[in-house]
Amino acid sequence: MGDLIKIRNWIAGKEASPSSGLWLTKFNPHSGEPMSEVAGSNSVDVAAAVQVARSAFDDWSSFTPLQRGQFLADIASKMGERRDILAACVAEETGKPPQDAAAEVSGAILQADFFAGEGMRLYGRTLTSSMPHKSSRLQREAIGVAGLIVPSNTPIANIAWKMFPALICGNTVVLKAAEDAPGIAHLMAELTRDAGLPDGVFNVIQGDGGSAGAALVAHPDVDVISFTGSTSVGRKIATIAGERLARVSLELGGKNPFIVCDDANIDEAAKWAALSAFSNAGQRCAAASRIYVQKSVYGTFKEAFAKKANSLKLGIDEGCDLGPLINKRQYEFVVEILGKLSSENLVCGGLERTPSNIRSGYYIRPTILESLPTDSEIHKLELFAPVACLYSFDTPEEAVEKANDTDYGLTAAIHTASIDRAEWFARKVRAGVVNINIGTYGSEPHMPFGGFGVSGNGTREPGLEALDVYSELKNISVLSRPFLI
Ligand code: NAD
Repeated sequence: MGDLIKIRNWIAGKEASPSSGLWLTKFNPHSGEPMSEVAGSNSVDVAAAVQVARSAFDDWSSFTPLQRGQFLADIASKMGERRDILAACVAEETGKPPQDAAAEVSGAILQADFFAGEGMRLYGRTLTSSMPHKSSRLQREAIGVAGLIVPSNTPIANIAWKMFPALICGNTVVLKAAEDAPGIAHLMAELTRDAGLPDGVFNVIQGDGGSAGAALVAHPDVDVISFTGSTSVGRKIATIAGERLARVSLELGGKNPFIVCDDANIDEAAKWAALSAFSNAGQRCAAASRIYVQKSVYGTFKEAFAKKANSLKLGIDEGCDLGPLINKRQYEFVVEILGKLSSENLVCGGLERTPSNIRSGYYIRPTILESLPTDSEIHKLELFAPVACLYSFDTPEEAVEKANDTDYGLTAAIHTASIDRAEWFARKVRAGVVNINIGTYGSEPHMPFGGFGVSGNGTREPGLEALDVYSELKNISVLSRPFLI
């Protein structure tokens, strides 16, 4: 393992080795081979990063929002110059096809541009008062040190969704990189230095969640924690941060319903269902994993959906539709769950390892299941894999009832030609994002994203709503005394 590249922490504008001397191995998801050694950080490394971020806070938060926006614009421009390097790193670390990695980088640049522009706005409101000659206004102020914790499924997008709103609001950042996407976090850190961001404003801690992530959450000098990841880890974070009343934003899991009505365009619905369930190898919080089809079109849709699923190309080459799962642990988890199923439930996909380019690595073929009891493990669990379950319904009311039969509430989609049905569904379904005649995913940098139920804690990022996560609101009032004039 001596030849593997070492990915260190990034503290105060420089690389820093882990204090414990521990290194974790990151494996290539396509080949299963080791690809890098990653700093196995602990609370000592986290404390060093937080201290640096705290020291940088006064200067950074004293820049005007417009000046901070200029730094962000410079970062966006540097990302544009290095887009190929960034996309290659995303593709290699996650195993996603090159065109998907490139699209993700473009989305991250757009995110930087969006929040750079907020430097010229960062609006508050003016308020009226019951007292004559009193004026009142609401002003945004930085909170302090932001601890950002991200997963690896869309790694550069996940980082961008958090770091840019955190920075434009005047916070300094300690990012806990995803252990399966360490390189992209490191490239972003180097890039911020090269774009001229002052040292200490953006720091990266590598390592696993239980050690590095937990230490960041527990650190008393971290003022706001923004976490994207599983609901189970989100619960732990809320408990620990809640103890010291740190602000917490949680963007968690989903078990998202996709409804196909009898008046839908079936080919379009099958296309969007396949994209929602299988793109990014199903590793999306917004993936469609429960597909409800009206009885009269169930057979036709099932055939079109299975045909689409079977046509998808697995692999890491340009033009492939989906790559492998991110790591061995996740792969073995999915294999175990699918291994328990009866063949009667399998419409297509499953555990067979063909074609030959997917014999190694962590590949799962696009898999469609049916006739699963609603108390089954798969019906309830978020698998984070290219696996979708088909169910039927009689009436739109039943479809909504079934769609809402989950503790999650992240996204939902309906396919129908009826505007009344679509609007009615959009009002009734319990989800933070509702899409009509498209997929269950597809949010953009200016659109607030987040969920009901156990999909989050009520915050929304990104969009303008992210500014509320990363700023304190101060109400300032003044009495102008006309008798003094
Ligand atoms: P995960 O919860 O296991 O890990 C996410 C991050 O949290 C990683 O960086 C990990 O190291 C860290 N972590 C783990 N334990 C921790 C702890 N005790 N304290 C602090 N940090 C800890 O999730 P994952 O498997 O990497 O990602 C998949 C999950 O993320 C899915 O549930 C998916 O739905 C969710 N997700 C949600 C969104 C959203 O916007 N709602 C977006 C992408 C992914």
